[in-house]
Amino acid sequence: MTVMVPSRTPALITPGQQALESALHQLGQAAEHLGLDDGLRTMLATPRRSLTVSVPVRREDGRMDVVQGFRVQHNVSRGPAKGGIRFHPGTDIHEVTALAMWMTWKCALVGIPYGGAKGGVAVDPTLLTTRELERLTRRYVNEILPLIGPEKDIPAPDVGTDEQTMAWIMDTYSVNAGYSVPGVVTGKPMTLGGSLGRAGATSRGVQIAALAALGRSPEGVTVAVQGFGKVGALAAQYLADSGCKVVAVSDVKGAVHNPGGLDVADLRAYSAENGSVTGYRGADAMAHEDLFELDVDILVPAALEGVLTADNAPRIRARLIVEGANGPTTPEADEILAANGTTVVPDILANAGGVIVSYLEWVQNMQAYSWSSAEVDMKLRDLMEGAYAEVKSMAAERSISLREAAHVIGVGRVAEAHQMRGLYP
Ligand code: NAD
Repeated sequence: MTVMVPSRTPALITPGQQALESALHQLGQAAEHLGLDDGLRTMLATPRRSLTVSVPVRREDGRMDVVQGFRVQHNVSRGPAKGGIRFHPGTDIHEVTALAMWMTWKCALVGIPYGGAKGGVAVDPTLLTTRELERLTRRYVNEILPLIGPEKDIPAPDVGTDEQTMAWIMDTYSVNAGYSVPGVVTGKPMTLGGSLGRAGATSRGVQIAALAALGRSPEGVTVAVQGFGKVGALAAQYLADSGCKVVAVSDVKGAVHNPGGLDVADLRAYSAENGSVTGYRGADAMAHEDLFELDVDILVPAALEGVLTADNAPRIRARLIVEGANGPTTPEADEILAANGTTVVPDILANAGGVIVSYLEWVQNMQAYSWSSAEVDMKLRDLMEGAYAEVKSMAAERSISLREAAHVIGVGRVAEAHQMRGLYP
């Protein structure tokens, strides 16, 4: 008798699950270097709190849609949870968990007293009117209200959210509290207690990290940037201001390329007016995927996770990758890039400028005080350059990649906090 062995359907893995696998892989490597015991590893691999909510939204035509929302607090051992809120159709609990975990290591790495969190709503904000977006935001906040607060968990902007979203969150929370609570979110408009320098902080940090890793004059250094949103557009601008030649950028609709160098300020104005970089007259159209394979000095992925993979990594010619986005490089791609001698400045270091200035905003809010942009910029630079130097020397000391070194430092600090606090009860 022949035994029929059912053919195995390859496991379907969502981008969120892929991101979580990457995050767990990186944690595993760091735990190995640090010699952490199994109990602590499991503790660090699992979020402290995860909340999934259903968010009903009244559409303009009277219909009611219901979308899924999430808030995950990965770790709170070093301080309140901190992390952005993402509005994106592909977001799920796995992605939000991965992003929350990366926030934990990032805050520890740059030495700010926060744990890591992240939020998300599985919705395409470009398909909603402003009033629908406001209703969605307020209802989502209402659903996650028990978790957030200036001393508990402080959201900020991420993909698909902005200053206006933060203003609605601050208002919804404040109306429930009965008084104004500016410290419940960061990345707010200036009129509501936002900080000078917050809007460009992540990009400023990317610029600082890129120039530190470059280690030579940026004059004429060529750059390609994937993603032309809050992080990518200003990272392109600041790198161009430093003397780099930004030759290609992309957004969700397409990519543009000009080997002679793009006029980034003009392209930003064009993109703001037209909703995309596509169709810009000062450049040629280009396929999304080709941007990664350009012969440039620096590649800045500043869109979403999992875009540098085992498939395209062998064809990447940039010598330096500076991760504006969270989780853009899969572990398989990391290995290929390392073997090819490409330096990768990892996300938890390269894009930490955002949470650093979010922290500065929160400190100002808690003190009802405000600092000048020069003060904010100086503190940002100090923390970024300090963290970069620590990561670089850890990498040299242990002969490991910058990503492994950054995780060894970040994970190590969180593990130490757990050990010092002990286990309750
Ligand atoms: P955003 O919504 O402002 O911009 C995202 C950009 O990516 C848009 O231009 C969008 O068109 C583009 N994009 C999406 N899919 C794309 C694709 N397949 N190809 C090319 N472009 C694509 O978001 P953001 O705040 O700039 O965040 C970008 C990344 O930076 C995310 O990974 C986010 O987690 C990370 N990050 C953001 C901050 C922050 O302060 N906003 C801080 C740290 C890290």
